[in-house]
Amino acid sequence: MPRLGTPTGTIEVLHKYNFNFQKKFGQNFLIEPGVLETIVEAAEIGEEDCVLEIGPGIGTMTQYLAEQAGEVIAVEIDKALIPILKDTLSTYTNVTVINADILKLDVEELVREKNGGKPVKVVANLPYYITTPIIMQLFESHVPLESITIMVQTEVAERMQVGPGTKDYGALSLAVQYYSRPEIVTHVPPSCFMPRPNVGSTVIRLNRYEKPPVETADEEFMFRLIRASFNQRRKTLVNGLSNASGLNLTKEEVTDALEKMGLPATIRGETFTLEQFARLGSLLYKGGP
Ligand code: SAM
Repeated sequence: MPRLGTPTGTIEVLHKYNFNFQKKFGQNFLIEPGVLETIVEAAEIGEEDCVLEIGPGIGTMTQYLAEQAGEVIAVEIDKALIPILKDTLSTYTNVTVINADILKLDVEELVREKNGGKPVKVVANLPYYITTPIIMQLFESHVPLESITIMVQTEVAERMQVGPGTKDYGALSLAVQYYSRPEIVTHVPPSCFMPRPNVGSTVIRLNRYEKPPVETADEEFMFRLIRASFNQRRKTLVNGLSNASGLNLTKEEVTDALEKMGLPATIRGETFTLEQFARLGSLLYKGGP
């Protein structure tokens, strides 16, 4: 089997199996060895590591990962790729391929079974159409993980690392920064993929915190506040939060809490830092479900 990650190696495999790209699965395969090396290096994979790869495609990055890691678990949704992966990964004894939708898989159970519950490293060239749900699922489900090194759309990578007061700042920025320290690794042009995507891509590494950088009364409640604040971006926090269904907050309660924080009732969520959302969450949390 040829080394993948080059245009010729990739075309050879695609022809052999008469493979048709499925747009609905966000299939853009990497064909640039330099980029693959950069990703694997940034993920700092060693023999003691168990890596979870989401969407191995034809196994391009999986080959690189298998050579560095102790164990690789690769989860691929497209069943047409499973026989191809069997072939391209046949020389590696440390790879398990699972045909499943990552969003429907009990990843916590899988990690417990495969790695005794010890933290895994996630590495992926993600399908762009579901980047945010995948990241949120990994963080919120509390799957034991050390880091997530992923290729995403450049615009999404920017959203993950910006702070208050910028147009890209939102619920994704706050969630990523509550759970991890983001670090941009490299930008990758469309010419490094087959077929070429029509957006720029960026590799970002999210280093999972052992303990979040802020404390709040109830994590889930704080995220409900955050989502409600950015759902109604143009409104003041007082109006946005008191209008939000399910939060059960009055204008007076929100105004009082802001006053305790020394902030005016006219303030908007987009200027709020993670620390401020955590504090507001603690002031407004009423306990119970
Ligand atoms: N890792 C390969 C590479 O770098 O060349 C392929 C990356 S391609 C951008 C994304 C891959 O994720 C595709 O193989 C696609 O079929 C797979 N995929 C899409 N949605 C998925 C899901 N919900 N669960 C698991 N895999 C998925």
